[in-house]
Amino acid sequence: MDHLWTPWRYHFITSAEKSDRCIFCAFQEEDRDEHNLILTRGSHSFVILNRFPYTSGHLMVVARRHIPSLSDAQPGELEELILTARDFQLALETLYRPDGFNIGFNLGKSAGAGVAGHLHLHVVPRWQGDSNFVGVIGQTRTIPEDLKTTYARLREYLSQHPFPSRDAASGPSPAR
Ligand SMILES: [Zn+2]
Repeated sequence: MDHLWTPWRYHFITSAEKSDRCIFCAFQEEDRDEHNLILTRGSHSFVILNRFPYTSGHLMVVARRHIPSLSDAQPGELEELILTARDFQLALETLYRPDGFNIGFNLGKSAGAGVAGHLHLHVVPRWQGDSNFVGVIGQTRTIPEDLKTTYARLREYLSQHPFPSRDAASGPSPAR
């Protein structure tokens, strides 16, 4: 699992050296979501593309509050994190036709969290053979679609498919 869960941390470690501020807190306060690759903002969470994606479409559902772990989260926050992950799983299935997903939390630096201390849920589309390819070529990953393209595709999808999780009252899953 090292290959899957650690690549992006190097980018964030590098970024973090420039500032002591948590980038997830900083990005939320900024008013430039496209630049920051923030796709949506909810009541308790926001969704951002990973700047160093493992695969095309790799995104993160991030808690709005700077809390380090699930045990610090309120039920409403946990609910929104999972419902939003569900919505983006559906979006990514529609747009990218992956064979599967890794969806998970890294809590703490020792677990591979790039932004330790601020709860976020990775959603990583997977294809047959993607990790095999990584294994063959060592540290180099497959080159995903460029981030601006991924951002534009997902934003276009969102404009046409309102997600129930982003509404005040959560409805049933959209028709598939
Ligand atoms: Zn933070």
